[in-house]
Amino acid sequence: MTGKCRIWRSMLMRWLARISRAKQRLVPRRIEERCAELILSDEQLRDVCQRLLVEINRGLNKDTNKEATVKCFPTYVRELPNGEECGKFLALDLGGTNFRVLLIDLGPHIFHMESKIFAVPQSVMLGPGTGLFDHIAECLATFMHEHMVDVSPLPLGFTFSFPCSQEGLTKARLATWTKGFKCSGVEGEDVVRLLQEAIARRGDIKIDVMAVLNDTTGTLMACAWKNQACRIGLILGTGINACYVERLENVQLWDGDYEEPNQVVINTELGAFGDNGTLEFIRTEYDRTIDQHSLNPGRQLFEKMISGMYMGEVTRLVLAQLTREGLLFDGMGPEVLFEPGQFFTKYVSEIESDKKGEYTCCRQVLEELGYEDASDEDCANVRYICEAVSRRAAHIAAAAVACLLNKMGQKHVTVAVDGSLYRFHPHFHDLMVEKIRQLINPGLTFDLMLSEDGSGRGAALVAAVAVRIGSLAAR
Ligand code: ADP
Ligand code: MG
Repeated sequence: MTGKCRIWRSMLMRWLARISRAKQRLVPRRIEERCAELILSDEQLRDVCQRLLVEINRGLNKDTNKEATVKCFPTYVRELPNGEECGKFLALDLGGTNFRVLLIDLGPHIFHMESKIFAVPQSVMLGPGTGLFDHIAECLATFMHEHMVDVSPLPLGFTFSFPCSQEGLTKARLATWTKGFKCSGVEGEDVVRLLQEAIARRGDIKIDVMAVLNDTTGTLMACAWKNQACRIGLILGTGINACYVERLENVQLWDGDYEEPNQVVINTELGAFGDNGTLEFIRTEYDRTIDQHSLNPGRQLFEKMISGMYMGEVTRLVLAQLTREGLLFDGMGPEVLFEPGQFFTKYVSEIESDKKGEYTCCRQVLEELGYEDASDEDCANVRYICEAVSRRAAHIAAAAVACLLNKMGQKHVTVAVDGSLYRFHPHFHDLMVEKIRQLINPGLTFDLMLSEDGSGRGAALVAAVAVRIGSLAAR
């Protein structure tokens, strides 16, 4: 081929490639540009990791804990299950989407569980604290009568998934309500005492509260029962939170004994990361709008960028804004896009579960929102925006896990993960794994393991471990 021919050929190839790219790229450049602020570089994510480490250390340090945003509460859970726990245990799970009472039968490699969901009416969620605890006690009593375990007192683990300052395995003061609860007279109080008082007011059931914990610790415990490498618990559901096993020498606030094992599970409460302004470099106008309209403005800013309670709403705000700017749906999208709370996080999962280039689920969602006859271009744009929001959430959650893995420095750690966002979003797991790999220190390895129903199983396991240790100590 002559030199001239070669030049003509390469020009033709480049021209054909450009046409093919233009055909594939249904998403207009303007939309990509408007979403650019949602796409975080590795450098920004490393910065998130670094900043979180600073905040965790401020939480662990005695002199800085008071003002720290990431409180790093010691849980008083020191031992993980060893598989030898056995007996019948009750558990309460409050602070997730559902309130549940559970009865768990444990033996070597046996885990039998019965549970019942009870509604917590909005009026109770926002009413006086005594009303909430009377309601919990009533549900517990109903369940115990139904399962005929109301004769002799059973050990109970209480999963209370709100930020608490713990003063012992059975003493936890609520720091602040989150996730839509706002009962008066509970903040600053010991929730175990409030539960025990409500049970005493009834007088028809007897229980031994062995432990109070949150869903994050429960998730870690439930996974550790099967997997000895498990050292981190992560929740990606209504909220986001993580706990990890820390050496006592790093926990300045520790006021317990220093006997073996020389460790304690730390409940980081990292959903509040950013509440002192440290995440402003990545927050957007959408995050600010969500925060302003929330029940707890200025609080849980990290959580509001990630978790299931907010991710659909972040997506909706982007969709609505770009529609207003005429970049989507020819400027006239479905009405409900302009109503707060009408675009659920599960829609993001559904839209992203379509195969690339297909839009069956996306069309279904848009039809559900009252928008018929969406074009392929509309669907590609909507999917692009969903991906931008969910990828950002997965990547900053990955930065948090990488921060903990780097801090712990153990060669291999299993991370137990629970929550519908992680479980049902079709790409969350893969996105997180890929990003954590890029962010952790060389030589470290990890895996992410789904820990189903940590908040129920874990509560029983913490109670069971406490009973096992108690009975060993009594020998
Ligand atoms: P909780 O954290 O309250 O115990 P879940 O783990 O079930 O409960 O998480 C509930 C959150 O998960 C809700 O905020 C909801 O928006 C979100 N969610 C529910 N289904 C899905 C889904 N298919 N994909 C992504 N998020 C979901
Ligand atoms: Mg849960």
